[in-house]
Amino acid sequence: MHLPSSTSHHPVGDVSATMPPVCDFTVFGGTGDLALRKLLPALYHRDLEGHLPEDTRIIGVSRSEIDDEGYRAEVRAALERFVEPALLEPEAVERLLGRLHHLCLDADTAEGWHLLHGLLKDRPREDDAVRVFYLAVAPRLFGPTCERLAEIGVVNERARVVMEKPIGHDLGSAREVNDAVGSVFAEHQVFRIDHYLGKESVQNLLVTRFANTFLEPLWNSQWVDHVQITVSETVGVGSRGGYYDHAGALRDMVQNHLLQLLCLVAMEPPTYVGRENVRDEKLKVLQALKPLTPADVDRDTVRGQYVAGLVEGERAASYADDLGADRSDTETFVALKAEVQNWRWAGVPFYLRTGKRMDRRVSEIVVVFKEPPHAMFPGAEGGASANRLHICVQPDEGMRLHLTAKEPGPGGIRLRPVSLDLSYATTFDQRSPEAYERLLMDVVRGNPTLFMRRDEVEAAWSWVAPILDRWEESPEPPRRYPAGTPGPFAAAALLERDGRSWQETDQ
Ligand code: NAP
Repeated sequence: MHLPSSTSHHPVGDVSATMPPVCDFTVFGGTGDLALRKLLPALYHRDLEGHLPEDTRIIGVSRSEIDDEGYRAEVRAALERFVEPALLEPEAVERLLGRLHHLCLDADTAEGWHLLHGLLKDRPREDDAVRVFYLAVAPRLFGPTCERLAEIGVVNERARVVMEKPIGHDLGSAREVNDAVGSVFAEHQVFRIDHYLGKESVQNLLVTRFANTFLEPLWNSQWVDHVQITVSETVGVGSRGGYYDHAGALRDMVQNHLLQLLCLVAMEPPTYVGRENVRDEKLKVLQALKPLTPADVDRDTVRGQYVAGLVEGERAASYADDLGADRSDTETFVALKAEVQNWRWAGVPFYLRTGKRMDRRVSEIVVVFKEPPHAMFPGAEGGASANRLHICVQPDEGMRLHLTAKEPGPGGIRLRPVSLDLSYATTFDQRSPEAYERLLMDVVRGNPTLFMRRDEVEAAWSWVAPILDRWEESPEPPRRYPAGTPGPFAAAALLERDGRSWQETDQ
């Protein structure tokens, strides 16, 4: 099925959010990996489609001693590397490069900030400009950067700050970061990015749930047996070892991405999808998560760490070798069972798992419905299996509903599993924007729906805290799993114990 491409772009979540005519988009860490690989290509794509405010300037900030021309050359090289060649239009590239400036300043010191002040004020009607301050720098610089911005007097009502994960290392440090940023910016000016929420398939989950009638009556403990959320990667820790070894998979993935996905599956329908409504409902889910006791942690969580193995036919080193360390007890894999204690979900397990160096790269939510209550086809070959809805977040964004059908032909009834597939790539004949494209434009428009509010971040830290505490005091190290496998056996056992198993994509 092919649908005509649409040119109307209604921001999910906020009809009142509007595109301003003037914008100064400042990226602290403008020469870093995140800026060059994700943010500037995303801004290029939006500019290409005419969605950036006409009068937009993009100001890269770093300690590198490069001028505007030097920065333009770096960004040009990044666009050539990270934008699909067919979408690199010379006129659009020049337009984006023309918007760029670079300021050399060290966020750790007080010098040089007058340059930023001067540039931001250097506009005919500077008060009309939306000012975005994107903190693509180490989290320890979040607080000091905001304080300096306040000191030089560039934080006004039209200013916004964007933060990347990690927001803190635990509840206490998350509060410190939020306090420091919150002493300068009001909560409605703070945009905490979880790029999973910008993915088309994740937004489509909201639309599928709330713009159709057939699912919602079934979306509860009466009809849903359990939910699985998997975010597995085939890559190892790469060059992020320094950060990762202090974080681990629970902090790096579960506290944010997996719990956010869980919230979108489990939340109640908001009055409308907009501004605070979605965030209010997500918060209620986080607050309804059953707190884990030490005994629950021992029983319902599994942590693992990869050892050497084969990933997609290639030899992969162990985590310790990737780090260049003798040993480490940081987990690169987590599987756990959670429960949302409310009327809708009581008794329905939510199984979450994530890991590095696993057998496949996939982010997927699977809602497994209950078996039919009565076997209507006695003697039929095959047998009916439970319906499942797979929501694939990446790499092939889409949805698959598994049903049981009669195999055509005479001679009795043979039941066969079949699937209804919705592939974004083949259904919509238009390019699916990257998550950052969507999210950056929401920041410019001032639409916070797809960003994490302070109370959500802190509620998520509160829920993972007992797991972190218990693991820290436990003498048992993470269970080893060979690279290129679905994780430690204990993760499979976690479900087998409940008479269930992990759903793999092609089943
Ligand atoms: P990166 O490649 O190391 O880049 C850091 C950037 O910050 C560089 O432009 C660096 O330039 C600048 N910088 C460092 N210290 C500075 C200072 N004192 N004052 C001003 N600028 C300074 O890091 P990254 O991968 O882009 O990550 C940036 C942030 O985003 C981190 O918090 C990271 O956890 C988060 N994040 C990144 C990704 C990703 O895909 N990369 C994904 C999620 C979250 P100079 O050295 O020239 O100053």
